[in-house]
Amino acid sequence: MRIRVGHLYPDYLNIYADRGNLAVFARRAALRGHELVVHPVDRGDPLDPSAHDLLYIGGGQDREQALIAPDLASKTEALQTAHARGVALLAVCGGYQLLGRGYRGRDGSLMPGAALFPHETVAGDIRMIGDVLLECELEPGSPRQLAGFENHAGRTLLDEGAVALGRVVHGFGNDGASGFEGTRLGNALGTYLHGPLLPRNPWLADWLLERALAHAGATEPPTLPPLPDELETQAFRVSAERARRRGGRL
Ligand code: GLN
Repeated sequence: MRIRVGHLYPDYLNIYADRGNLAVFARRAALRGHELVVHPVDRGDPLDPSAHDLLYIGGGQDREQALIAPDLASKTEALQTAHARGVALLAVCGGYQLLGRGYRGRDGSLMPGAALFPHETVAGDIRMIGDVLLECELEPGSPRQLAGFENHAGRTLLDEGAVALGRVVHGFGNDGASGFEGTRLGNALGTYLHGPLLPRNPWLADWLLERALAHAGATEPPTLPPLPDELETQAFRVSAERARRRGGRL
């Protein structure tokens, strides 16, 4: 099948090679006989809510975030419609922050967000930097771990009743205090984990690809056949071990 990916603001939001997550999607899709077609969605481009099976937005510094925030905020309706139709979505760090209601910077300025995710973000004085280990349960009864790297000044506060992506085992997570990291809203996931995230957490790449395939109209139940993932498993172990050595939360 053909999986249509909308890559939001690729020239602005791409720190820590977050774009590498798309290479993982493309390779893992190709190994199962599927093709990934990536379309950039830039400032001023309309976002057609039916045009994509998977949406991706990476991380960025405050300066780059400020440049795209008003445009992203103008895409709320299209994002909500796409989400309601089951699009798979991954948002990393700066993109994760701006899919909430907004981000208040250190200087007090408020960047508007797209208000898809139920949260808001306020910059703090201390950056939260280091390796992270999370426990997630996207499928009830099937706990999985995610390893990654975080570097953010923003503290993201989830609304009452909002669902986190995972529970922090080691690291800071959303705000360094709640014990939660990221958010999950149906098929949409937001996280602070850079790295890029997916090379060392291939199960998450497949979880998103399966939802993208379902959106693309897969007739078969979209369970992707497993891949050997030897290097990916090693990468996960190294990353998880670094997070363990780092110890507990703030
Ligand atoms: N500028 C944001 C912060 O520091 C996001 C940074 C990032 O994407 N790593 O909170």
